[in-house]
Amino acid sequence: MSERQHMRYSLTKISRNVKLGPMPASTSSRSTCPTACPLVGKGGCYAEYGPMSIFWRKVDRGEAGGDFDTFVKEVEQLPRRQIWRYGQAGDLPGEGNTIDREQMLRLATANRNRPVIAFTHKPPTEDNLETLRQARALGFPVNLSANNLDHADELIQHGLNVVAILPEGYARGAKESLTEYRTRTKELPKHSPAGTRIAVCPATYTETNCLHCGVCATSQLRGAIVGFPAHGTKKKAVSAIAEGDVP
Ligand code: SF4
Repeated sequence: MSERQHMRYSLTKISRNVKLGPMPASTSSRSTCPTACPLVGKGGCYAEYGPMSIFWRKVDRGEAGGDFDTFVKEVEQLPRRQIWRYGQAGDLPGEGNTIDREQMLRLATANRNRPVIAFTHKPPTEDNLETLRQARALGFPVNLSANNLDHADELIQHGLNVVAILPEGYARGAKESLTEYRTRTKELPKHSPAGTRIAVCPATYTETNCLHCGVCATSQLRGAIVGFPAHGTKKKAVSAIAEGDVP
């Protein structure tokens, strides 16, 4: 059996992830993750911990989800204007660093312009970028995920929206009020080194969620890098990546 046939996809109809809000969310096999991702296996991938990791292992073992054809049919059957999250764990179709163009464009076509929140850590090879541009033209925009703001400045040159991990200083502390957080972070850089505005994801410091925000689902160029502050038990490791201390 080819690697492609081994890959599995699951579409949870209503996610219980509070940061997403109650929307459909998909999970894809770990083999879709790029070897280029610096978070994998280094304690920085949030999908490798907690309840998400248990479900992800089930998808990997074939105990949840199904093949790509089944997944595409499920996407086709989502309500017409339903916002959803592609890849709460796992990456775009295709093994490792590669985006499988045929599958990606089938998925984009099946989606029929539903707003979708998708990110990829796959590297910006010419083939991958061409696939992402074609997918966006079909109404399936994908954000390029940067490891830090310097990386974000490089990725944004490709004409696609970019998100980035931010150092832990951008995260709101558990006991910090919103006012305290805003006051403390006032001095932090608001722009990347090359001058693009940083927009910290509001779900990381307020009660909102992706269902209400939807900024990452836009196919228009945002002119801002959406930033996700390092947080949680592995925040030191993630923050080191965000600060460019890990290649
Ligand atoms: S910026 Fe908005 S859409 Fe993007 S991850 Fe944060 S809450 Fe979700």
